[in-house]
Amino acid sequence: MSTREIIKEGNIILRLKADEVKVFDNELHTLLDDMYETMIKAQGVGLAAPQIGISKRVIIVSTNPEERIEVINPEIVKFSGMQVGLEGCLSVDPSKNGNVKRPLKVTVKGYDREGNKILVKAKDFTARALCHEIDHLNGVLFIDKLEPNIE
Ligand SMILES: [Zn+2]
Repeated sequence: MSTREIIKEGNIILRLKADEVKVFDNELHTLLDDMYETMIKAQGVGLAAPQIGISKRVIIVSTNPEERIEVINPEIVKFSGMQVGLEGCLSVDPSKNGNVKRPLKVTVKGYDREGNKILVKAKDFTARALCHEIDHLNGVLFIDKLEPNIE
């Protein structure tokens, strides 16, 4: 495993619609392992492949040490409720952190690293992280969705 460089807002790769993964091979496994190591080192709770310059539909989320969610070609198939909470991103300067509205619960379908179909159900902060990472695959950053500050 090795850590990769996290690209920052302003890099065009973050604004592209990422490509679907069609081959579930060792290269994909290395990508996932590198993403995990990169995320841990950066003290993040999630990472999408475009953030390390790879425009593929691959995300990981880990909001606590016991949890390691990997989804290939993720798609939100169900969502309910609403939450507004503070969000940041390893690709965006922390000075831009702000409140974003997200579903309270989501169901995400996709594939695991071996190519098996999976369904991930999440709520609260994990649901927020999944939505944030899936947005990355469509070229969307949280700063596009900031709630107006009421001060
Ligand atoms: Zn992000």
